[in-house]
Amino acid sequence: MSTGSRLDSFVARYAERTKSMTASEIRGLFAVASRPEVVSLAGGMPNLTALPMDVVSQIVADVINENGQVALQYGSGQGDPVLREQITEIMKLEGIDSHPDDVVVTTGSQQALDLVARIFLDPGDVVLAEAPSYVGALGTFQQYQARIVHVEMDDDGLIPERLREAIAHTRAQGGKIKFLYTIPNFHNPAGVSLSLERRQEVLRIARDADILIIEDNPYGLLGFNSEPTRAMRADDPDNVVYLGSFSKTFAPGLRVGWAAAPHAVREKLVLASESSILCPSNFAQMAISRYFATQPWQDQIKSFQGLYQERRDAMLETLEQHFPATATWTKPGGGFYVWVTLPEGIDTKAMLPRAITSRVAYVPGTAFFADGFGSWSMRLSYCYPSPERIREGVRRLAGVIEEEMELRATFGSAAIPLSERPQRILPPSELI
Ligand code: PMP
Repeated sequence: MSTGSRLDSFVARYAERTKSMTASEIRGLFAVASRPEVVSLAGGMPNLTALPMDVVSQIVADVINENGQVALQYGSGQGDPVLREQITEIMKLEGIDSHPDDVVVTTGSQQALDLVARIFLDPGDVVLAEAPSYVGALGTFQQYQARIVHVEMDDDGLIPERLREAIAHTRAQGGKIKFLYTIPNFHNPAGVSLSLERRQEVLRIARDADILIIEDNPYGLLGFNSEPTRAMRADDPDNVVYLGSFSKTFAPGLRVGWAAAPHAVREKLVLASESSILCPSNFAQMAISRYFATQPWQDQIKSFQGLYQERRDAMLETLEQHFPATATWTKPGGGFYVWVTLPEGIDTKAMLPRAITSRVAYVPGTAFFADGFGSWSMRLSYCYPSPERIREGVRRLAGVIEEEMELRATFGSAAIPLSERPQRILPPSELI
């Protein structure tokens, strides 16, 4: 049997749900975007330069030396009780009063998203999500064959009136809404936060409509000039599942996050988690637990905030100086991302290869919508490159957009002939 036909026979056997497991069309481009000459404003990797690696190294060594027999053993499916207690302390910063029993430790909050989807979603169920929304969550919900209904946002986050309309419209069509997925703080990718008044309104709407809220909050402690905002779970613990993560307040490589959930939900989450991973890593949990018990972690978070604020400022200043007057962008008060909206008609996905030849990368807006919307938007992240590189990247991107606008002015909305596209700086074979 040839390799080709063997592959075909696998394809025929895959489960229905694998149909949405496709690599994004732009993944190939990102292999190129990781080259050093390209300023990547695409990735969302936390910047670990502010983390004291000597301290972390000592903590890791101490965990093994003093407690290696436990650290390297299987552990509890719900997670280490000591860490769960510490997590309740961390959540107090956002007004959440919880018990360690409410907490399920997961392998990053990404696993918590998967568990939530697994216990709630049947094929065809509806998930309400902001427009735009976190690509990793949309992908997970779609793998459980859910239908995403997007709800419009503005600079104050999700618009309550639009939420009411989306619920009414979906139900009128017979759609079964399972939950609202929301990122209230320093949104990925939109960079905005849900205002305090709207939090109350969204909670009320969800409760009245009997819709559970999934509050995904990995960036909540990364506000630049503000105390942490009161979490939605703080005001309605019976109707909100809160997802947290150590990826941005400590380090993503240990892969530790959590869900804090109403009692019945928590029990199902633990069973679902045990069937997928048996238990989260004892070693990673103990390293984090020791770090939070022995280190000035709140000061460490302040230095992360300073580092990201400096980069945010560099990006906003350069956007102001170089981007066209017809473009708009959000002004994040924390987190990693700026959401840019270009003049209608510019297709950011079509423009990406040209940006990469000009040695700058971003994520096209359509990646953050389940319905193909967002083609003239883009996400720029400022978390990882140095401020100088961010300035350079934004300048390069402004040049690419300017060219695109000139071409649009010449050719209107018709496709721009290839022969008229500007010369490539690198040969195409170098690119993909
Ligand atoms: N939710 C959001 C909104 C995110 O931006 C991310 C990471 N980019 C995650 C969840 C997953 O993070 P982790 O699994 O590292 O905790």
